[in-house]
Amino acid sequence: MSENDKRQDIEKVTIIGSGPAGWTAAIYAARANLQPLLFEGVPKQTPALMRPGGQLMLTTEVENYPGVPHGVQGPEMMELFKKQAERFATRIEQLDVDAVDLSKRPFTLSISDGTKVKTHSLIIATGATANWLGLENEMRLARTGGGVSACAVCDGALPVFRNQELVVVGGGDSAMEESSYLTKFASKVYIVHRRDAFRASKIMQKRVLDNPKSQPVWDSAVIDVLGDEKIAGVRLKNLKTGVESTLPCKGMFVAIGHTPATKFLDPKQIDMDEKGYVAMPMPHRSHTSVEGAFVAGDCADAIYRQAVTAAGMGCRAAIDAERWLADEGIE
Ligand code: NAP
Repeated sequence: MSENDKRQDIEKVTIIGSGPAGWTAAIYAARANLQPLLFEGVPKQTPALMRPGGQLMLTTEVENYPGVPHGVQGPEMMELFKKQAERFATRIEQLDVDAVDLSKRPFTLSISDGTKVKTHSLIIATGATANWLGLENEMRLARTGGGVSACAVCDGALPVFRNQELVVVGGGDSAMEESSYLTKFASKVYIVHRRDAFRASKIMQKRVLDNPKSQPVWDSAVIDVLGDEKIAGVRLKNLKTGVESTLPCKGMFVAIGHTPATKFLDPKQIDMDEKGYVAMPMPHRSHTSVEGAFVAGDCADAIYRQAVTAAGMGCRAAIDAERWLADEGIE
């Protein structure tokens, strides 16, 4: 069978994305007998790009997912999610969806192998990528669990960071939240920011500035991350004076924002906010501005961004899609 032959039918539900949201949507849709087709994404080397499994592929130990009392490695967790979706006969393709035409139903998806998929309903679960500074040693230590992370809530409570001096990079609400959280465990948290004023809300700034364990490092950029297997410190550059210095630390948490992976969507066809997060017009529902298109996970969530919240959103999207298909009389 050629690639195009297998694309002749109109899919009932197609899921784009293979993080906790996508796999959970697949498990629910498959168990509802909808024979979902899931596009997992093409494996990529660049850490900043989306990959099969999503952001958990860049995480080491996951200790806050309920029901896993002894923790699990992020990539292993995603393999387990995938196996569960496979068990209920989800059809999985390791391809990207390059573009989606939502202007008429059934929707048309342009796939990275050059084929087109027609689908009655769509679940967008493409996630978001944490923004990184883009330094070689930063990415190396993030990939290998060397003490560089983009999520303090995920990793900050690990024993390796307890009673240690840590660095948070950024000046927005996330940086404030991450540094406040880390002060529960760390001996000191330096917040390295490129300007001399935080962008964060005043109340969150105050919480940080009032905390004796936190210390801002103003007008500074991290220009290198030091250490072989584990981080030993960061190299800083004062952006006003040009003076470079070394700040020893046992962990670095990058909190400089996220980018939702929604570039394949046309903002003229589906409502998104100015950063590209997909809008959800109905509170507590997964519907988008386009009938038949549903959304789940970090590509619609700038606030919580947790595996467990993404999985919950995936469940909602599959149930909403199932009900919508039934209402449309699509069996
Ligand atoms: P953000 O508001 O976009 O802030 C990003 C911060 O990182 C800024 O301070 C920015 O510096 C800095 N930055 C960006 N690129 C950088 C680079 N390449 N090198 C060094 N620094 C860089 O992102 P966020 O803090 O993740 O917040 C995202 C949204 O979620 C916001 O709307 C926020 O209010 C919301 N949020 C809310 C809560 C809460 O209410 N509890 C918690 C977290 C997030 P500049 O300031 O110089 O631009």
